[in-house]
Amino acid sequence: MRTLRLLLGDQLNAEHSWFQQADDQVWYLMMEMRQETDYVMHHVQKVVAFFKAMRAFAAEREAEGHQVIYYELNHPHNQQSLPENVQQLVEEYGFERFEYQMPDEYRLDEQLRELGESLGIEYQAVDTEHFLTQRHELADMFAGKKTYLMETFYRNMRKRYDVMMQDEKTPLTGQWNYDQNNRQPYDGKVPVPEPLSFGENVAEIVELLEAQGVKTFGEIDPDNFLWPTTRQEAEEALEFFLEKCLPYFGTYQDALSKEHWSLFHSRISFPINAKILHPLYVTRRAVAHWEGHQDEIDISQIEGFVRQVIGWREYMRGVYWAHMPEYAEKNFFGHDRKLPEWYWTGDTKMNCLHHAIRNSLDNAYAHHIQRLMVTGNFALLAGIDPDELDQWYLGIYIDAIEWVEITNTRGMSQYADGGLVGTKPYVSSANYIDKMSDYCKSCHYAKTKKHGDKACPFNSLYWHFYERNRDKLEKNPRIGFVYPTLNKMKPDNRQMMMEQAEEYLADLNSL
Ligand code: FAD
Ligand code: SF4
Repeated sequence: MRTLRLLLGDQLNAEHSWFQQADDQVWYLMMEMRQETDYVMHHVQKVVAFFKAMRAFAAEREAEGHQVIYYELNHPHNQQSLPENVQQLVEEYGFERFEYQMPDEYRLDEQLRELGESLGIEYQAVDTEHFLTQRHELADMFAGKKTYLMETFYRNMRKRYDVMMQDEKTPLTGQWNYDQNNRQPYDGKVPVPEPLSFGENVAEIVELLEAQGVKTFGEIDPDNFLWPTTRQEAEEALEFFLEKCLPYFGTYQDALSKEHWSLFHSRISFPINAKILHPLYVTRRAVAHWEGHQDEIDISQIEGFVRQVIGWREYMRGVYWAHMPEYAEKNFFGHDRKLPEWYWTGDTKMNCLHHAIRNSLDNAYAHHIQRLMVTGNFALLAGIDPDELDQWYLGIYIDAIEWVEITNTRGMSQYADGGLVGTKPYVSSANYIDKMSDYCKSCHYAKTKKHGDKACPFNSLYWHFYERNRDKLEKNPRIGFVYPTLNKMKPDNRQMMMEQAEEYLADLNSL
């Protein structure tokens, strides 16, 4: 039966059972489309990475004997819309069956279901064979619960996939979690490796985007592309991480540094999210490497990494499918301020934000703590509309796909889901940022001042956030010391701090 099989840009899993053997009745369809380049404004490196990875994937499958129909962005038959392209091909080439892998985005899931129904031929959605859990599993596990505890889920995953276990129930060493070891600032004692770059020329794709008028933002060096886009490059990136970064990954996981934009992080989120790498392969490979180097690599480093990959990543996907489409509307605090203009330029006097945003614009990347405790922290304190913030996070990062972006942004970072993902809001004053970074020393603002000339905005905004959300947060047992401290403050002091915060909030663009 003449079959058309669709592959989306983030479905580059060469080990999928579809590719076990070539079949002359099957054609694979891959498309670069304005539908995908334009649903949000993306960082130029993100669009280039997807197109480059898709082209390489198509060429590899063709070399294996599979038949691939590939529409580049300017292909004369490309109507720039997924349903229109598929409908046209089905009509023109008389396909009798349409198959697709289940997309990870609600938007595409709906679109493909409607398309399948409308084609008038047999259609089927199959698994991507990528994730370690099914869409509905997390919802089933926490049915009726107000908060979904990641730790419970993570322990289940360790048991289920037998990762770092002594026996069926007991983790190696008897301890599940080494998070408390993983909170050190970077002190320069261990040199940070120069981030691995793949140095490829991507000028052709950049020129195509320009010629087609695709609106992007951010920087790119077309002669030296940073990101891995093939299986071989992705494996190189993973091996580089295991050899050079894993020994310090956990220790400096939360550290922030002016000089080192990715510190000891793996930077494999793009190839893993595009399904070039499988999460279980990554986990098994990392654990095997650690097993062979236990004299050099402490268990806390590998445990920290494994928790991110089989814990947080799968968990976020489960939250997404349990709560979409309502999740995209969540706004627990009713925040509605506009995103300051300097989120798009990095031109702010706040050194922490300047560096986190510049990293993002230069590399389409910021590591987790920059996203959570700098850009996300400020946005939450300042009451930025989560819709505006979602557009920013979804556009700027190389790894941003809605299922993992929105759950991290609305859930973990903005507490917009009212405490489903996080048990309390992730906010801090300058104290935390100063402890974890070298940003404050050379900042225009004074990290210890709460009001007055050059007072660090994080300080007054922190207390203002708690004061204005007293009704929503005061009873939260995880918040502990905050309200007793606020209540004990001298009224004059408190008043000056609130006024300072109001002044900053009135003109965020000038900070
Ligand atoms: P490492 O620090 O080396 O971690 C290894 C891997 O673990 C990552 O590649 C990733 O696959 C996984 N991982 C780690 N933390 C998380 C997490 N919280 N959720 C899911 N997976 C995780 N991650 C995305 O993949 N896409 C996003 O769009 C995205 N948006 C985010 C937005 C905000 C506001 C925040 C706070 C976090 C976001 N994250 C997102 C999670 C995390 O910041 C990135 O996965 C990580 O920074 C990617 O860099 P890395 O590969 O060097 O990760
Ligand atoms: Fe950021 Fe305040 Fe520190 Fe400046 S002083 S780097 S604004 S936390």
